[in-house]
Amino acid sequence: MKPEDFIRGLKGRRIRSLDRRGKYLIFQLDKGTLVGHLGMTGQLTYWRKGIKDSPVFVKHPLTGLQKTPSQHAIDKHTHLLLNLDNGDRLQYRDIRQFGHWRLFKKDEWSLHPSLKKLGLEPLGPQYTWARFQTAFAGRRGKIKALLLSQGPVAGLGNIYADEALHAAGILPMKRAENLTGPQWRALFRAIPRVLKKALSRGGTTFSDFRGADGRPGRGARVLRVYGRFGKKCFRCGAGLKKTRVSQRTTVYCPGCQK
Ligand SMILES: [Zn+2]
Repeated sequence: MKPEDFIRGLKGRRIRSLDRRGKYLIFQLDKGTLVGHLGMTGQLTYWRKGIKDSPVFVKHPLTGLQKTPSQHAIDKHTHLLLNLDNGDRLQYRDIRQFGHWRLFKKDEWSLHPSLKKLGLEPLGPQYTWARFQTAFAGRRGKIKALLLSQGPVAGLGNIYADEALHAAGILPMKRAENLTGPQWRALFRAIPRVLKKALSRGGTTFSDFRGADGRPGRGARVLRVYGRFGKKCFRCGAGLKKTRVSQRTTVYCPGCQK
């Protein structure tokens, strides 16, 4: 779709609902569907008319990425603006530009290749032990890679895949076909628990994440393995180790993950 068609397709539309599927945001419009993915550094914020924009961007000391203390003015990293009829707007800012937005006619969005392959929603009512077993049946390969693939279960990125596996006591590089019955049970329980805990605290601010209200998430305070390489495991006291699975940095505990 050309940018002009994207703009024309959004003009005058009414947002009927906002859903999430895996890591996708789904705006159901009165005509068509807007689907967004924040990638690694995307921030979707609600900008209020009449509130002062923050004049400064603060640079993160490690990553060099920018954050704002409050709502920010449009700048060169702002790639999408949805002007609402009350004068407020939704602003999408993405420095690394791994995120993307697409507009679909009617229900075609669910046929999108990345959305079609999405597995069980861990926080949805369909998440049952029976469906969980079916979702993983016959799947082979490292358990963390399977979680990152979004195929059996949707919504776990690098951070929460590590957290869920630590909570379940499973080594990230362990192959799915070698997991024991109790390990599957533990993983089934750990996934929604870890996600709920993170959501209740507003997500994880690893570098520059902002909630829709512009505030940093507080999830980083509850991370037990991610970003803690070399530190002691909160559960068993062993030193946390680092490896790579699916080209992603992976932190695990050699003491309590089997
Ligand atoms: Zn441990």
